Amino acid sequence: MRVLVTGGTGFIGSNLCQRLLQDGHEVICLDNNYTGSMDNIESLLDNPHFTFIEYDVCNSLLSCVALQECLSKSGNDCGCKAGVIDQIYNMACPASPPAYQGEHSITTTKTCVFGAINVLDLAVAHKAVVLQASTSEVYGDPDVTPQSESYRGNVNPNGIRACYDEGKRCAESLFFDYARHLGARIKVVRIFNTYGPHMDPDDGRVVSNFICQALQGIDLTVYGEGKQTRAFCYVDDLVEGLVRMMNSRGDFLGPVNLGNPCEFTVAELAQRVLELVQSSSRLVYEDLPQDDPKRRCPDISLAQKELNWHPQVDLDTGLQRSIAYFKEKLIARGLLAQD
Ligand code: UDP
Repeated sequence: MRVLVTGGTGFIGSNLCQRLLQDGHEVICLDNNYTGSMDNIESLLDNPHFTFIEYDVCNSLLSCVALQECLSKSGNDCGCKAGVIDQIYNMACPASPPAYQGEHSITTTKTCVFGAINVLDLAVAHKAVVLQASTSEVYGDPDVTPQSESYRGNVNPNGIRACYDEGKRCAESLFFDYARHLGARIKVVRIFNTYGPHMDPDDGRVVSNFICQALQGIDLTVYGEGKQTRAFCYVDDLVEGLVRMMNSRGDFLGPVNLGNPCEFTVAELAQRVLELVQSSSRLVYEDLPQDDPKRRCPDISLAQKELNWHPQVDLDTGLQRSIAYFKEKLIARGLLAQD
């Protein structure tokens, strides 16, 4: 099949591109590299079944000349129907809280909303199945735990996280309206905290911060008292869930939670990282950002039932693989000496 991945140079998007190529698909990766990085797809660029297009999903995809050129060229030798996109994964959006809470906030909402409209218009034109990467952030600071898909959330509509939370909620609404009124073939997944290779060491999320700090012997920055919880899913497990959802039966639209249901406090995560890195770093406590969710943990019974999906990688294994990845990144940047 010919598969388009928007946000394909980002953390999850690039891991997904890699997986889709392994599965034998023709992959078009589209990104404006606003928060993504060409480093993440460097190893894919020589693959004849892979095309990278630099483009912003805030602009019409039906008018994207590079995409039209790519579609008219490819097709004859790959077994895909010429000119047709079969599946679209919409992964494009800044996703790290420090990124979307700062100068990128307005771009974040635009990417969520205009991006959704543009991928949906393209999907309808191609009769492609289109999957929206929604988020656990649609639940805001939840007052029920674990969160199941029927929970409608507790979002501050004008706080510093709103650009992402409300942007993604609006995107979900667009997806379902396109399905109801324009026959779009949609799938919606709500992604919970995910970590692993291809995360940007500087993106400010807790796993990347703690590992990079521990490796460099810098104090680990715990926000608040570290009692807030998250449940961390290794990226390979998440990608497996995305692929299963995309290929699920046509009348299962979601939304479906994808995440690892093992819940940890941020302080527990810090201790795990310190032990695995064997670091002598200490913990320093900083202010908790506004609207930071106190508890977050997915109820994944729907994904288990409909997709037969359950995460396989436990936290220690995933952290060890991530530590190896970040070590290499820091060495390449001259921030860490080779062993
Ligand atoms: N956090 C922290 N130290 C950091 C970065 C984040 O204590 O250096 C906390 C943050 O306040 C939140 C949790 O870790 O409670 C997860 O943050 P992250 O940015 O990874 O993702 P979020 O779940 O907030 O989207």
